[in-house]
Amino acid sequence: MRSRSLVLMYHQITEAGVDPSGLAVSPKNFASQLSVLKERCEVVPLRELQLRSESRGKRPRVAITFDDGYADNGEVGAPILEAAGLPASFFITGIALDGQGEFWWDSLEHLLLDLSDQSAPQDPFEVVIGGQRLRVDLRTLEARLRAHKALNRRLRIRRPEEITPVIEALAAHVSREAPTCERHRLAGPDGVLALSRIPGMTIGSHTIRHALLPVLSPEARHHELEESRRLLADAIGKPVVEFAFPYGGEDAFDHESEVAVREAGYVLACRAVFGRVTQRTDPYKIPRAQVFDRDEQEFSADLDSWFKGRVP
Ligand SMILES: [Zn+2]
Repeated sequence: MRSRSLVLMYHQITEAGVDPSGLAVSPKNFASQLSVLKERCEVVPLRELQLRSESRGKRPRVAITFDDGYADNGEVGAPILEAAGLPASFFITGIALDGQGEFWWDSLEHLLLDLSDQSAPQDPFEVVIGGQRLRVDLRTLEARLRAHKALNRRLRIRRPEEITPVIEALAAHVSREAPTCERHRLAGPDGVLALSRIPGMTIGSHTIRHALLPVLSPEARHHELEESRRLLADAIGKPVVEFAFPYGGEDAFDHESEVAVREAGYVLACRAVFGRVTQRTDPYKIPRAQVFDRDEQEFSADLDSWFKGRVP
């Protein structure tokens, strides 16, 4: 039997509002997706899938993962998983464990997309990112959506310490502070501990600052990997051995980063690049399929495509 194993990647289980990055799945659709998985697949813990990727029976094997550490993972997603009797792995950042504020991409979304044409500044926002000057118009919603895309694309490849000043400069330009909202609330120490105590739920690391590992110095990379593992293990009183590369795309990992992940004591690492898992899959290069806010039928069709090795 050919391998039909997949790792699914989720971020948030919450009602979709403004969601320019498509990271939220509604609780209703999530429950429907789990019932499709139960019917069609054998859902196993990520480590078990990685150790034995070949499906022996007729049913394909699937593991469920979540990135970042939003509060809804433990409060909404995990109870739906527990009710369905399904396991999952949660890759938590140090920022989410701390639980203060919001991720930079959520702040960026507020600072640009909460504006109205009346409240938006008339002069463009000018900033230098990685030595490149960027000038974005903010006067109309269309312009602000374009600005969001341009800033998001340029910031996500920078080091965390380069990103924060840009968000602060944008906040000053639009004369408001980035708010914290319910939708983007982070798990915090109590949330992570509660999640870790739900049967079937595994806590993994996603670095401290959601850092793009290849652009960091070796020392900073080592710190992100070691310290996040230690902080999480201390918080939950269990060892942490699973890891997912922040951002996860082709620029989010390289040979040095993979070596550093292994040296930090992790036994596996997930990417956000699409692919199926086979016996030959390197445990530090596990591909995943990103799940969108799709209903039962749409999700079932997505699964068909993924099992054929295609992105729908
Ligand atoms: Zn928010």
